Amino acid sequence: MPTLRAMNVLIIGSGAREHAMARAAAQSERVQAVFVAPGNGGTAMMGGKVHNVALKATDLDGLLQFAGETGVELTVVGPEQPLELGIVDLFRRSGKKIVGPTRDAARLESSKVFAKEFMQRHHIPTAGYRVFRDSASAVSYLGALPERSWPQVIKASGLCGGKGVIIAEDRDVALRTIIELFDDRIFGDAADEVVIEDFLKGEEASVFALTDGVSYRLFLSAQDHKRIGDGDTGKNTGGMGAYAPAPLVSAEVMRKVEERVIRPTLAGMASEGYPYTGFLYVGLMIDGGEPSVVEYNARLGDPETQVVLPLLKSDLIAALQASVDGDGRLNEVPFEMYQQSAATVVMASGGYPDHYETGKPVTIADGVESLEGCMVFHAGTSLDGARLLTAGGRVFSVTALGDTLRESIDRAYEAVEKISFEGAYYRSDIGAKAL
Ligand code: AMP
Repeated sequence: MPTLRAMNVLIIGSGAREHAMARAAAQSERVQAVFVAPGNGGTAMMGGKVHNVALKATDLDGLLQFAGETGVELTVVGPEQPLELGIVDLFRRSGKKIVGPTRDAARLESSKVFAKEFMQRHHIPTAGYRVFRDSASAVSYLGALPERSWPQVIKASGLCGGKGVIIAEDRDVALRTIIELFDDRIFGDAADEVVIEDFLKGEEASVFALTDGVSYRLFLSAQDHKRIGDGDTGKNTGGMGAYAPAPLVSAEVMRKVEERVIRPTLAGMASEGYPYTGFLYVGLMIDGGEPSVVEYNARLGDPETQVVLPLLKSDLIAALQASVDGDGRLNEVPFEMYQQSAATVVMASGGYPDHYETGKPVTIADGVESLEGCMVFHAGTSLDGARLLTAGGRVFSVTALGDTLRESIDRAYEAVEKISFEGAYYRSDIGAKAL
């Protein structure tokens, strides 16, 4: 075992996902300082090794300069925008180690057309689809679909912050959506290309891998809750809660996902000249034990990260280092999970995902973090002197571990009750469908 040199780590992003990453990084013996750019109120309050840096996640040149000046040896990218802008290519050209896919490889997320065509080329199970580049051909395709084809799923190809997917129950909704995308251009260039695909039945779950382009390690599976309301009702959001592991992803299902999705994806990307490195998120629909890919993300999910990382017992930073060193050691690093469950409940500002107010003072009762297994990850918070204020739609992601899923859910809600701000909203049924 070589002696460990204390190193500096840079985490890019400002959500609860990055707060969870910062916590995992700070726990590593290898790490002397964790910089979070730009971070949030929670990472500002961590103290110790953790420091916020006032640089935006999309300020690639500023981030590279900071990493150079501060002797950052490992950078971890949270959100998708810097990946699509090519931050990994930029850092690598400057000899800087960074966890994430190149811009070309990140097209698995940033171009749904690329992802669908890639899956078709490599026989990876996914919904049947067609690609359209103008409204006339989409309208004539929709007009000719037989009655039994509905619903259909309409997707803007580019990044739309999780809003670019419309499930059209019938032809009227579909035609209206096509007009909005191509003629009204509600998503701008992101909808220059549109995918129309078959609706998949089943239950959703996600699987996350860390890869060096050849080998990979798997985190536990998770399920998130995208809708704003209890019982999966109302508008789509960035995610209102999650739990892990997902009972739906049995060992047998996981084996199928590895064999039919993860391995062919990595082999396919390598064979096409875009080896995929970093975190790979596979969103799945599972029907009768058979997985199909709904989407890829080129990063860890939020809020799934807030349940998946706390369940990793091994040193995250050691695994990340092995994944970027390119010497094939990823298979050898410890990558052990706690034999527990985790749940996270997102607390949002009233009105989210539509209009909401920010700047509300937050009160966190003493002792929340000493509740057994609880971790309060901040998302939209900021620190104004010593005052903690709300600063976004999703404000906290309150995670708890437990020996059972039930226990983790109960603990997370117990902690949620101790946090208050005007208009606080959260779902009351996180994890209920798995119980
Ligand atoms: P995406 O951004 O592709 O993950 O889509 C967002 C959400 O839309 C997914 O999490 C699913 O709930 C739903 N969805 C997307 N594609 C399909 C599909 N082909 N069949 C059923 N639901 C889908």
